[in-house]
Amino acid sequence: MTMNKYEKVDLSFQSCKSTYEEADVVIFSVPMDATTSFRPGTRFAGNAIRVDSFGVEWYSPYRERDLNEFKTADIGDLDLPIGAVEDALDMVYQTTKDILEDDKIPMMVGGEHLVSYPVIKATFEKYPNLHIIHLDAHTDLRESFFGRELSHATFMRHVHKFVGDGKIFQFGIRSGEKPEFDWAKKENGHIHQRKFDFEGLDQVCEQLKDVPVYITIDLDVLDPAVFPGTGTPEPGGMQYKDLLWAFDQFEKLNHLVAADFVELSPMLDPSGASTAVAAKTLREMVLLLQKGLEKRV
Ligand code: MN
Ligand code: MN
Repeated sequence: MTMNKYEKVDLSFQSCKSTYEEADVVIFSVPMDATTSFRPGTRFAGNAIRVDSFGVEWYSPYRERDLNEFKTADIGDLDLPIGAVEDALDMVYQTTKDILEDDKIPMMVGGEHLVSYPVIKATFEKYPNLHIIHLDAHTDLRESFFGRELSHATFMRHVHKFVGDGKIFQFGIRSGEKPEFDWAKKENGHIHQRKFDFEGLDQVCEQLKDVPVYITIDLDVLDPAVFPGTGTPEPGGMQYKDLLWAFDQFEKLNHLVAADFVELSPMLDPSGASTAVAAKTLREMVLLLQKGLEKRV
């Protein structure tokens, strides 16, 4: 009898080792921090989370589901053309489009928040009635930033241009320029914007339970005491238990079609606590996306 003494080990998130073909949910990470305005480093998030995911249980006592019950593929960091922002965003768009065309659910890990833009765009093209739940410390609603339209400080304003009024629901916002806050409220409200906390998120999830929903979480919505490993920390934020409460509300969504989280910069928190927060968040989000899908292990 012959056997392989050593097996090839690929770095993947947790037990998410299904092949792309068999998977229902596909994790990919985008190592880009090109427009980051303050402290860079989010390009390292994906693989830092993969390494640290070995410290996270497969079973979630919150969701009462286990990653091993589902078919999830992790296709790793995209091989981006370094420094070419437009080309990189195109690659993210194309990857998302491929995953959706193959009837799978994308779970993107940033990267800076701008990388959500092409993922949301591709998802909107498949689901024109797309609604977006956006947790963030920052408005991300500037028209332009340093003369550029596409940046992590502007991307949601540009998402609004194709999804339209009444489709974007922001929570936890505590930083931005006055014109961004004013714009959000204009003409009976371009977007729903809840400042400082998650109040009302339960009603919003009830309201959106039967429409296609995309969730984007900028982890800097958390307080820097919980999540210091990020480029633009903003005091006065949410606790991790608040985020777990938000996930409980997300369980109400029957048509969650894609999701992401962004802005972990692992080297800015040498304690590793921020990466642990992100790894646990990825487990919870994959389990939310797998909800309702047939178990096919
Ligand atoms: Mn932010
Ligand atoms: Mn953001």
